[in-house]
Amino acid sequence: MSADVLELKKLVKQLQSAANEQEIVGILNILKKDFEVTESILRESKVGLAVGKLRTHAAKHVADLAKEIVKKWKVAVEKAKGAAGAHHAKAPQQNGKGPERKASVASTPGTPSTPTTAKVELRTAKSDGVKGSTGDSTRDKCTELIYDALASDSGAPVELILKHAQAVEASVLSDCDGVTAAYKSKIRSLFVNLKDKSNPSLRESIVSGELQAEKFTKMTSQEMASEERKAADNKIRAENFHNSLAAAEQQAETDAFQCSRCKQRKCRYRQAQTRSADEPMTTFVTCTNCGNRWKFS
Ligand SMILES: [Zn+2]
Repeated sequence: MSADVLELKKLVKQLQSAANEQEIVGILNILKKDFEVTESILRESKVGLAVGKLRTHAAKHVADLAKEIVKKWKVAVEKAKGAAGAHHAKAPQQNGKGPERKASVASTPGTPSTPTTAKVELRTAKSDGVKGSTGDSTRDKCTELIYDALASDSGAPVELILKHAQAVEASVLSDCDGVTAAYKSKIRSLFVNLKDKSNPSLRESIVSGELQAEKFTKMTSQEMASEERKAADNKIRAENFHNSLAAAEQQAETDAFQCSRCKQRKCRYRQAQTRSADEPMTTFVTCTNCGNRWKFS
């Protein structure tokens, strides 16, 4: 293992245990300035993954710096590939100005009462470091595909999304009697429906557990669309609930939940019966650090 890889591994550890944003930024600046990377260095040290994750960090300057580094590394890796393979088109030039500064409103930490729509990059199994664990490569790939769809715009923790992605995959497997042609086409169709931009509440109702995987995998596209309308109503109710929750500010903070966005364990939560009395309680969690919210039943 090269010295760079060892050094980078140490930095990855530091990055993961960094106590605050300043520390993260400090390490990122070292990574940005002091290292020439190759594909194998990135892979062996897992630094690509660690920095990649930070692209969705709640603090915009951290996210931007991470994006800048990932871009720089991508260009370096592409270049190396180009040099290795005969003649390769030159990698597109960066304008050197760093990350694009859009006039977007960044989410303001500490003010969870204002619902902000922070612009984050789409999450995937890859960006979250999630891998299927069935031992069957087709099933793993399908689990990851469902994860991609569920996670894309979600603020929920990795474990919660993974749990439901696995449940969806397992349910399709049992519906289709194993990894059959029907299994593959069903997974593809569910993926398309889940990924539908106009259907965010369908994803959310699965991640939150409101819509059971076993029920979901037996639904027709039409039913999914009507589920969308139902879920949209639920979402409005949930959001109102979240808002009143933030306004009340009466709960104690707990470390029982970890925020998937900022990785802190500073959350408030409340449980409520959102549907009929014989169904499980829904738990609403709000991160007091970055304002991220999610719910599950
Ligand atoms: Zn957070």
